[in-house]
Amino acid sequence: MNHALPVVVATPSHSGLAPALTWCHDEALPPGTLVRVPLGPREVLGVVWDGAPPAVDAGALRPVAEALQALAPLGRHWRELVAFAARYYQRSVGEVAMAALPPPLRDINQVQLQRRLKRLAKRAEALEASAFVPPASPEPSPEQRQALDGFAHARQPQLLFGSTGSGKTEVYLRAVQQVLEGAPDAQALVMVPEINLTPQLEARFVERFGADRVVALHSGLTPPQRLASWLAAHSGAARIVLGTRMAVFASLPGLRLIVVDEEHDPSYKSQDGARYSARDLAIYRAKLANDAQPTAAHGPAYCRVLLGSATPSLESWHAAETGRYQRLAMPARIGGGALPRLRLVDMNHQPRGAVLAPPLVQALAERVARGEQSLLLINRRGYAPVLACHDCGWKSGCPQCSAHRVFHKLDRTLRCHHCGHSSRVPRACPECGNLDIAPLGRGTEQLEEVVAQLLVDVRRPDGRAVRVARMDADSTRLKGSLQAQLQAMHDGEVDVLVGTQMVAKGHDFRRITLVAGVGVDAALFSSDFRAPERLFSLLMQSGGRAGRDASLPHPSELWVQTGHPQHPLFVALKRHDYPAFAAQQLQEREAAAMPPFAFQALVRAEARTQEVAQGFLLAASDAAQALPGHEQVTLFPPVPLAIQRVANVERAQMLLESPSRAALQRFLGAWQPALLQTRQGPAGRGLVRWAVDVDPLSL
Ligand SMILES: [Zn+2]
Ligand SMILES: [Zn+2]
Repeated sequence: MNHALPVVVATPSHSGLAPALTWCHDEALPPGTLVRVPLGPREVLGVVWDGAPPAVDAGALRPVAEALQALAPLGRHWRELVAFAARYYQRSVGEVAMAALPPPLRDINQVQLQRRLKRLAKRAEALEASAFVPPASPEPSPEQRQALDGFAHARQPQLLFGSTGSGKTEVYLRAVQQVLEGAPDAQALVMVPEINLTPQLEARFVERFGADRVVALHSGLTPPQRLASWLAAHSGAARIVLGTRMAVFASLPGLRLIVVDEEHDPSYKSQDGARYSARDLAIYRAKLANDAQPTAAHGPAYCRVLLGSATPSLESWHAAETGRYQRLAMPARIGGGALPRLRLVDMNHQPRGAVLAPPLVQALAERVARGEQSLLLINRRGYAPVLACHDCGWKSGCPQCSAHRVFHKLDRTLRCHHCGHSSRVPRACPECGNLDIAPLGRGTEQLEEVVAQLLVDVRRPDGRAVRVARMDADSTRLKGSLQAQLQAMHDGEVDVLVGTQMVAKGHDFRRITLVAGVGVDAALFSSDFRAPERLFSLLMQSGGRAGRDASLPHPSELWVQTGHPQHPLFVALKRHDYPAFAAQQLQEREAAAMPPFAFQALVRAEARTQEVAQGFLLAASDAAQALPGHEQVTLFPPVPLAIQRVANVERAQMLLESPSRAALQRFLGAWQPALLQTRQGPAGRGLVRWAVDVDPLSL
């Protein structure tokens, strides 16, 4: 007997209209079964999906090539999560499902799979035999204890609002322990924003729970490693999965807890393919699990969500203010280290053209002489953002983009940070031949050079000369170089570290007593309404790198060079008052009907010309006027992106806004066929690509 089966496969990104295709098999395979099916001339991986297949003659269908029945079917909650993500973010179910599975699954056969699963089952058995006995761990502080009590009784998502250095990781460890002790098959998912942060977290979890219970899941793994982690999670052998945003789609049949550390971090939002927010999906994933068992709220299968941050996203903060999330606060630092004092340097009163204000240089010199470390933050890599000729006005524009190429002095190149175009620095102005071409503005390389010059006569306590280092995407490109640089910092080899925001994230440096932000003013007056939120968070987080060792005799300081020391953002920062800052920002957002008081989506279009890109958006916008519910959604006119041309492709976007998330979702769902049709029609001619970004993080 032949059964027709709906199967989702990786189809082109916008074929959301046909969620599943149909194949036949001699068994009625349950939904969630992995299969390999013939598609055109190839064989591809697919997942048997829910719902009745279309009424077709099974005899006319191509048969499933292989059913990977050795593997337990992917669970119903997993399938619901994938289906939701596809619908919400306007992609096909197959695309989201396949992106969530480790690539080697495409090539593995039934026999290889059986062998691997047998090994995992043995491991799981051994684990069960050796009941988990938590090792002696530090006694929680009263604040941590209080947060954990709150956690134990939660009935909604929880926002752990803990200042930098307050010991959030210990709360995560104990929360995981609580749920693991609650059920023999319980699993926990712990997410961090960056791959770089996984090794130190993994070390702490392995130390607490043993290496056999913990696996990592992120894009930095080799394909075989990723498969091994995925199988361990899916089979239940692994009890704890640590990962980056992709881990939100891990198959975890016993999931009881999702932790999202640094939940405000923009890295949780994917920037290509399905543009999902792993933080938002974490909330939804737990809700799916809990809605399925309404009587069991607080039963053993209850799934909790714990979001943690010292500077929560305004979306999460608002949810806590309005009672949708429960707030757990930990304001004090472990070990009693004080939060750094803010020192604002008014750059209007400093020598003209000074990169670093003299009082800041003095403060740096004192730190070096005392054997303490400092951190200088500047959000541009390279030596200078532009190279210019003062005679004719030539600037180092990129031939392929509407952007400047950045001057990298170390390797004497002009490099475009958007398309990668790179060339040797010219000896003379390419326009007029003037030999005197000069850098404009500054980046990490220049700051490193300037600091080394300014501190050249300063000696460390051991009599050696000052050592300045730089950490950015260029200095850490080679594998292992980031770890080496972090180690040098920990070993006290470096006195002053110059870096981009990557140094502000999570790393626990014990001897930093001074952090300084340079060139931050652009964010105060940016057209992006989220810029102040990000700046506040960056300064709080990087300030949090300082003063972690309370035994150091001198108070730690956060310096900011600005032309606007009276700005309300700095007033709140001075008091370390995130709640005041958030209240003021939320008030502004509400008055302007911005998120989280409104809901947005962007449609982006790319084409050879700006006319084609905008023309597509205009045609799609026209088509929207006929749709039911369009009056609840505002469609703004198409505009070029801030960087309009990248790699010779013109980019435009159109903003959609609605006071109701549900109305926006209904509209987007109804609009999708019209968008696909517009793409196929005359207005889509010459279009390179297009995509919808729901809840975009940058406009
Ligand atoms: Zn010139
Ligand atoms: Zn370029």
